[in-house]
Amino acid sequence: MISDLVGKWAAADPDRVAVRFDGGTTTWGELDERIRRNANGQLKAGLRPGDRVAFLDKNHPACLETTFACAQIGTVNAAVNFRLAPEELAYVINESQARLLFVGPEFLPVVDQLDLPKVERIIVDYEDFLADDGEISHEPAAGDTFLQLYTSGTTGYPKGVMLTHRAMTAHSRNTNALGFTRDSKVMVPMPLFHAGGISWALGALWAGAEITIIREVVPSAMVEQFRHVTHTFLVPAVIGFLLDVPGEITGIKNIAYGGSPIPTPLLRKALERFPVDFYQIYGMTEACGMFCLLGPEDHHQPSLQSSGGRPVDGVELRIVDPVSGEPVPVGELGQIQVRTEQVMAGYWQHPAETAATLVDGWLNTGDAGRVNAEGYVFVEDRVKDMIISGGENIYPAEIERVLGGHPAVKEVAVIGVPDDKWGETVKAIVVADGDLDPAALIAYSRSRLAGYKAPTSVDFVEELPRNATGKILKRSLRAPYWANRERSV
Ligand code: ATP
Ligand code: MG
Repeated sequence: MISDLVGKWAAADPDRVAVRFDGGTTTWGELDERIRRNANGQLKAGLRPGDRVAFLDKNHPACLETTFACAQIGTVNAAVNFRLAPEELAYVINESQARLLFVGPEFLPVVDQLDLPKVERIIVDYEDFLADDGEISHEPAAGDTFLQLYTSGTTGYPKGVMLTHRAMTAHSRNTNALGFTRDSKVMVPMPLFHAGGISWALGALWAGAEITIIREVVPSAMVEQFRHVTHTFLVPAVIGFLLDVPGEITGIKNIAYGGSPIPTPLLRKALERFPVDFYQIYGMTEACGMFCLLGPEDHHQPSLQSSGGRPVDGVELRIVDPVSGEPVPVGELGQIQVRTEQVMAGYWQHPAETAATLVDGWLNTGDAGRVNAEGYVFVEDRVKDMIISGGENIYPAEIERVLGGHPAVKEVAVIGVPDDKWGETVKAIVVADGDLDPAALIAYSRSRLAGYKAPTSVDFVEELPRNATGKILKRSLRAPYWANRERSV
């Protein structure tokens, strides 16, 4: 199981490097010891199985150590997104009911302002917290929660996802498909509070690989860091930043990316610039991270460049009608569902949301997409963003693609707004690049889209609202139009 992995490699090869960080190294033997010392520190603090511990800092090996330490004594690391606004931080920490809060020194001023009634102890000096290296007797069960990760909060408040030992073990095993071996040197630049950081790191460690934890992404430094590693995982936005950094890319062999859709023109530029194998990961926090993978060969097939790949081992995927829940024929759009051991036990403290998401053994991804005859999935949109106008289902992503092709449109988000006649109607919210007449933009879309999909109104804004992960917050854009009214999706 995932909880035994450090002990296993420490026994096999105690002096080999497991973790690099900020110029220093930790061997497997040292990592194993530090984890036990953290676990003993928690026991000394009076923590009991089921208790939550929260971790708030930029990337640091202590987050990984805390995760494994918790798993050894049955407590749970509820890692917190350090990019949240103060009131969101308070919401997440209070909702997790964490008794201990580990805080990186630079976050102490923010934490001091928060009202955290459940937190009994704030730990700033991590080294001082580590206790003696005594044996631990607790044996976790496969169904116990190994780690609690929060979703990105794109479609609502971030939700605490309870990931079990069984689920994370299955996920770590499946990351084999990314080509990790014991000799891999794996860079971990994405945040450890998110699956893109921690699940990626766990997959590499599972294979016995060495990881390099990057405290914070600085694109200009990354090209140099690539010289010393074989693999990394990035979100598409970071790939975009890297394209602007001069210099030759050497060293690194594999770049995996995912977590949000990648615009095809960006992917094509990356394929031209970087002499590496690309892997696209499609997945979500509720399934520990990856459940579909688009491999390097598929990246050279233009028709697959907009695909999220095919399900990895042990993952079943199907498309159902978002309203009836019935499977739809191959090629048709609907909600993507997956069935796999990697799926969460549920959302912490949210039984109703859990019941709506885990249905008859299937996970409702909340994503709208289609599957082709070869089993490749194409993620089109979020089910919650779907617009129902006059009984027709309209996916904003399709309209955004068309409007995005207009030369004076820099960025665009399409939402549904209330309409007395049609229920909802299509509105485009545009960041313009120069002068743009709304009527001309509507005419442009009418000549390229079915009439009912064309926007009936256009708003101009300076900037689109985004969450900490860089995803556009459609719910904030919709809010002013839907005050006191219920949407049907
Ligand atoms: P919340 O659930 O709080 O609204 P979120 O869904 O953005 O936030 P995550 O679990 O971080 O939280 O993100 C998973 C989602 O990211 C997926 O459901 C999907 O919409 C999107 N996503 C992930 N990978 C890809 C990909 N390769 N292509 C397209 N979309 C992707
Ligand atoms: Mg989600």
